[in-house]
Parts: sequence; structure tokens; C-alpha cells
Amino acid sequence: MPKEVHIVGAGVIGLLLGKELASSGIKTTVYDAKKAVSDNTAKASGIFSKEGLATLGVDYDDAVVNTLDGAILHAGNEKMRIRSPSLKAYVLDRGDFASLCAKEAKSAGADIVLSNRFEKKAMLELQKDDSNIIVGADGAVSTVASAFGFPEIREYILTYKSEYENARVEDEHLVELFFSNKIAHRFFGWTVPYSKTKLEVGVGVSMRAKKNSTYAFNQLVNMDYLKGILANSKKTAGYASLIPLGARAQTVKKNVLLVGDAAGQVKATTGGGIIFGAACAKTAARSIIDAVEKGRPLATYEKEWRRRYELDLKMHDFLHKMYSGFSEKGLGRLMKVARAFGMERFLGLYGDMDRPSVVIKRFFLRGHGE
Ligand SMILES: Cc1cc2nc3c(=O)[nH]c(=O)nc-3n(C[C@H](O)[C@H](O)[C@H](O)COP(=O)(O)OP(=O)(O)OC[C@H]3O[C@@H](n4cnc5c(N)ncnc54)[C@H](O)[C@@H]3O)c2cc1C
Repeated sequence: MPKEVHIVGAGVIGLLLGKELASSGIKTTVYDAKKAVSDNTAKASGIFSKEGLATLGVDYDDAVVNTLDGAILHAGNEKMRIRSPSLKAYVLDRGDFASLCAKEAKSAGADIVLSNRFEKKAMLELQKDDSNIIVGADGAVSTVASAFGFPEIREYILTYKSEYENARVEDEHLVELFFSNKIAHRFFGWTVPYSKTKLEVGVGVSMRAKKNSTYAFNQLVNMDYLKGILANSKKTAGYASLIPLGARAQTVKKNVLLVGDAAGQVKATTGGGIIFGAACAKTAARSIIDAVEKGRPLATYEKEWRRRYELDLKMHDFLHKMYSGFSEKGLGRLMKVARAFGMERFLGLYGDMDRPSVVIKRFFLRGHGE
């Protein structure tokens, strides 16, 4: 009997997987509870490295809001300014980007069924039939993962972000990150410029802090530095959400697999999930195509995505653990030392937002050909 793939979740990852499968001639349906793929997307930010974005194979031009060439890191009274001589990343409108992904999935031949919340019972029913493959691309709190008893996500970060008009943006091409375990326990606060006057401000705080994200947000915007930037500005929107940290210990069971936030394929340092999630979706597509065409087990997906991407994800986990253990003062001191060792210039020239392993390689290869 011909196989059919049912993807639960028309977020960017589900849509990219749908596009990949449909363009290989596999019958694919992507379902979402939302009325439009762009609904609720503004709860997340839209920063993507230039190199990472190029790997997605999506024509994203119409979603670009701004370009970035670096970051200012703050901890205690210390600052580190990392600036690249060239464009490093894009800020995309997440709603427009999701719509572009949906357009490409549809033209590849995937069916997209909206206003369709998949409940546990319907999933279990579908799974009984071996000709169905079920994909959980249903985000941080995955119903597919809980319906089929996948291992839990280790830690969640609670987030809150707002948009401001008429802000005093110092440099419209630099993001700013604020590290403080007092305000943003085990994560950080951020500003993302959309233009010279429009700014996003956000914060993430670990669930372990037992503090809600709006409380952390109010503490962040009350810092003197941000008060100055936001004086006379107007808050236009606010959104709360979740970031899963740490991949699930298992992501395939029989004819069910998980991808993207549902699998926890997220950088623990920044919460960025699109570039790794999309890379894992490509790996999932290859395994599904092999399962449909050659009868291979879906478990090849688990092996392959871990072989290709787990080292970098683990490095992000390690860096996250390291900075989470520091006090504000300790982090400030660390920045001072890093500055003294020329890290601002090094990271400006050789930094890579997605792959710490590449940064380490470049560090040791400096002056030796790279
Ligand atoms: C504040 C914040 C800032 C972020 N900033 C960045 C960033 O700058 N760069 C970056 O790369 N990543 C960022 N991320 C992470 C990024 O947004 C996620 O990694 C990404 O959205 C994951 O995509 P996904 O398709 O796996 O899941 P989602 O985008 O969560 O999509 C899941 C979809 O599944 C649907 N769904 C859920 N349950 C069901 C069900 N039972 N039936 C039907 N449909 C269902 C939902 O409606 C949703 O549309 C950020 C996240 C947050 C919270």
C-alpha cells in the first residue's frame, strides 16, 4: 500500500519538511490548528545567520526587515562589542517567512490543512496503520511526543517580547544581549532593531527560576540603560512563549518521528531553532523517502541527525551551562579577559552563530590558511 505522510504542525519546520517530501513525489499533508500559517508567529524573533538561511532553500527576500552585522554583549558593568566587517544575519518578519514557506510547500504539491487541531486519539488511530508515517512538528509542547510517550524535554525557557516604536536605537545593525542570572535566570535579555526607531525587546527565563517572564521583562526594561533607549517610545505589542532546551533522548518510534522544536533541536545558547530544525527536517525527509521507496526503517533519521548535528547542539548546551553558572560580576570579569585576548575582533571576523565547532576550528587555524 502506498505510504502517506501526515505532518502535525505547519510551523516553518513542518512546512519545509512538507516541501521536501512532496517534491520527491510523496503524498504529504501538513495540518495545523491555526487559521493562517502566519498566526502567532510574532511570539518569536526572526534572526537568522546569512549562511544558515542560505541552506534552507527558501526565497526569503520578501520577508527581510533588517540586516545585522554584530552584537553588543552586556554583563554587570562590562560590554563587549562584536562587529563583523560584512553582513552577518537577517531579521525576518516571521509571519511573512512562514507564508513564503507555505507557498513553496504548496507549489511542491503538499496539502496544507488549517484549522485542524490533531488530538491524541486521532494520532493513535492513524499510527495503527503501517502505511501512515506521522511527524510531530508541533512545537515546544508537542502533543505527538506525549501521545507516543517520547522522553521529556529537559528544561523550558519562558519568554516575553515586546515591540516599541519611536525608540532611540543606537545602532540599527547591532543586536544587544543582556546577561544577568538575577533577571534572566539561565538565559538573557535582548534587543533586536527593526529600524532606526523600531525595536524588539525580549527576555527569557528558565522555568526552574519559578518566575514568570513578564516579571523578568519588567525588570529588564527598568535597567537604566534600556530606560534611556525606550524613553518616549510606545509599546505596540507583547507576546509570551516557550523555548525547549536540550534535544529529546529519542526522536523516532516505529512509524512516528519528531522534528524541530518538538524534538528539542534548538541552540541552547540563543534558543534559535530554525536553522538546526530545518537541517534535521532535511535529514528526516531523506529517511522518510528511503522508508517509502526502499522499505528502510525510519530509525536511520535518529542516527543521521545526531551524527551530523549533535556535536554542535551539545556545544551550545555546554556554553549555556557555563554562562548559566556565572554571577553578573563573574560574567563581566570573563568579558574583560576575553576583550584583553582580542576576542571582540576575533569573533567579529570568525564568529559563527550556529556552529561553535567551526569557531573553535577557526581559532586554532588563525594564521594557518583560514
Ligand atoms: C522569543 C523567541 C525568540 C526566538 N528567536 C529565534 C530566532 O531569532 N531565530 C531562530 O532561528 N529561532 C528563534 N526562536 C525559535 C524558533 O521560533 C523555533 O525554533 C521555531 O519556531 C520552531 O519551529 P517548529 O516548526 O518546530 O515549531 P513551531 O513554530 O512552534 O510550529 C508548531 C506548529 O504546530 C502547530 N500545532 C501544535 N500542536 C498542534 C496540534 N495538536 N494539531 C495541529 N497543529 C498543532 C502550532 O499551531 C504551530 O503552528 C525563537 C523562539 C522564541 C520563543
